[in-house]
Amino acid sequence: MRLEGIHHVTAITGDARRNLDFYVRVLGLRLVKRSVNQDVPSILQLYYGSENGAPGAILAFYEYPGIQVGRAGAGMIHRLSWRIGSERALAFWARRLSGEGVEHERHGAHLRFRDPEGLELELVVVETDDEPLTASHPDIPDGLALQGFDSVRAFARDPERSRALLEGTLGFERRSDAVWDTRGSGRGGRYAYDSAPVKPGIQGSGTVHHVAWAAAEDDQEHWHAALVEAGSGATPVIDRYWFRSTYFREPSGVLFEITTTGPGFALDEPVERLGERLALPPALEHLRGELEAGFTPLSNPRTSWARH
Ligand code: ZN
Repeated sequence: MRLEGIHHVTAITGDARRNLDFYVRVLGLRLVKRSVNQDVPSILQLYYGSENGAPGAILAFYEYPGIQVGRAGAGMIHRLSWRIGSERALAFWARRLSGEGVEHERHGAHLRFRDPEGLELELVVVETDDEPLTASHPDIPDGLALQGFDSVRAFARDPERSRALLEGTLGFERRSDAVWDTRGSGRGGRYAYDSAPVKPGIQGSGTVHHVAWAAAEDDQEHWHAALVEAGSGATPVIDRYWFRSTYFREPSGVLFEITTTGPGFALDEPVERLGERLALPPALEHLRGELEAGFTPLSNPRTSWARH
């Protein structure tokens, strides 16, 4: 039983319009689900990802309009890293980001920048046999597109505290002092710590809420039992309609979710129509009218290039 790397990352935006423009038009991800925070349905939740919305490339945002600006601190993820395929891709992205006025720094095979709300992002050239989970965009050649998540990095005061849970319960393999990999039958991902800044974190716009690791559907109950056994404080397995999830804080304070690779986002929308309308789990369908009236109207840049 192994986790298949990162399933999704969920972060916070104070401005869904600007967020959608950046991740879809600039970074070339596809809006693959337009939904709500299932615990607080009045909160819009946008999911970006690859062409078919596959686990491994899903970045979600809760929109809290006008929320305070956040700051990553101890117990929070502070950087997301996507794979790209080549040095050529790295050069392409440096040019593209410059053209958008996005400051960036290159460190070897890594290109670092921030989203409009300060969330730290990175593209890294990685050689891997994992399937490239790309989305199509008229200005981004397929071979240069983002290929799904490689890693997340968190701030911690003492990563050793997390070691028993990461290795003993979750089956992560240690790569170096504060770096762990997890690899299943189809995909892998990385979790790493950096030493935490002195200032405490603030959960606000431009910060990460949680990271979800992907589990085979048949394994979910076993993962949950193992987490309970380890005293992790894991929630019961919750049916999120597109997947089933359990949540807990790992000992360094980062909110983890273990979630199933299926049934997936095509459960209620054909792949070619993903993200076009507000998608609600059946249990929340009765709120549709009220919710649709309350959300910021969004125009998806993709609609202008998808229909011709
Ligand atoms: Zn989640």
